[in-house]
Amino acid sequence: MKKAIYPGSFDPITNGHIDIIKRISKQFDEVVVLISESTQKNYLFSVIERKNLIQQCLGDLKNISVDHFNGLTVDYAKKVNAQVIVRGLRAVVDFEYEMTMASMNKKLNSNIETMLVFASPESYFISSRGVKEVAKFNGSLEGLVPPHVIPQLQLKMKG
Ligand code: ADP
Repeated sequence: MKKAIYPGSFDPITNGHIDIIKRISKQFDEVVVLISESTQKNYLFSVIERKNLIQQCLGDLKNISVDHFNGLTVDYAKKVNAQVIVRGLRAVVDFEYEMTMASMNKKLNSNIETMLVFASPESYFISSRGVKEVAKFNGSLEGLVPPHVIPQLQLKMKG
């Protein structure tokens, strides 16, 4: 069985993430969207909130599950018998970070491959950081995040 992990912060999930999830769900038997609990970052949404927001997007995708993990992605992959870590690639600026991380993961566990998927032309400019910036200044979030994420994001910005 071909199983992949798609790890990230997803703070919050955007239409760019959803595009990648939908596309990779066709290439693997099973995909786990893995929410990182890295303590190095200050998240706007809690892990549980991020998980709920992702789950609400996945209604019709039967081979996708959502989990969270506080540790190394390769260790999680080994634990669940996943052979592949998928990451999305937007602009050139993503490349160096992704290459470094893929090399580190290869060093930690050479049995697990990192595969990079190019962002679609209509969502390559979308990032969680960008949508939070737009939300902060009351810009339109339409087309950037799924409809159910919009009120949650606006609520967080008010609070
Ligand atoms: P991280 O904080 O680990 O970078 P993110 O939630 O920002 O996590 O992103 C998770 C993955 O999704 C990363 O590989 C990132 O490059 C990718 N990604 C984010 N936004 C997009 C997008 N608009 N199109 C394609 N891939 C994306």
